[in-house]
Amino acid sequence: MRIADTQSVTGNRHVQCGPWKEAMLQNTTLILLLSVFVMPFKTNPPVICQLGDSASTYNAYEDQRPTADAMQLAQRVSAALKSACWPNCPSLVIFRNPTAPNAILLFDSGLAKMAYSPQFFNDVYAKFGDGAIIAIIAHMLGHALNETTPSEWMKSDWTTEVRADAWTGCALANASLSARGLRDALTAVSVYPSASHPGWSQRLQAVRLGYIHCGGDGSKLDSQAVSTKPK
Ligand SMILES: [Zn+2]
Repeated sequence: MRIADTQSVTGNRHVQCGPWKEAMLQNTTLILLLSVFVMPFKTNPPVICQLGDSASTYNAYEDQRPTADAMQLAQRVSAALKSACWPNCPSLVIFRNPTAPNAILLFDSGLAKMAYSPQFFNDVYAKFGDGAIIAIIAHMLGHALNETTPSEWMKSDWTTEVRADAWTGCALANASLSARGLRDALTAVSVYPSASHPGWSQRLQAVRLGYIHCGGDGSKLDSQAVSTKPK
């Protein structure tokens, strides 16, 4: 599979939404990963999570339809997390955008919006494969899950970044990854942190807890985590 950089925006349907949390809670069906049904936001809303360099160059008008490959992997993330968030699963809109940092998540007008750099996804896929893209999308969706889904199983003093990592672990438990895919997923999230992420050892604890919480075998994760580089 290739995360190709070939598609462009073709749709312009506008979605009307209320306040962020209210709108998210109205969606009680499943996680929706839309492609291009939203007009680009006129101004950049507050950044919730950012992997990579400064968001200062990000231009929402450059938002484009994600590739089919990226959407296919996003749907795998959605399916992997569905049982954990039902019936209050959030919605996430995904764009590719050449002005985006590696990946960025914003909340605006009741929607969680992710934009990824086509070059970043190309590079990550070339280095690490499907599992890595799945893990990065899962981290972004994890931030949205923080807003909709009770998570008493997480530690109360965890930051939102660590909580998103725990949801990443949950997704990895149900994403049907090979041992190699799991290792590549862990490596990718360890080497592409946000500026506010704590060290990898703390993050890995959260990933592991989420992995086990969602039915994964902790020993399987441990066996693949040993080769990831602490950050
Ligand atoms: Zn994050």
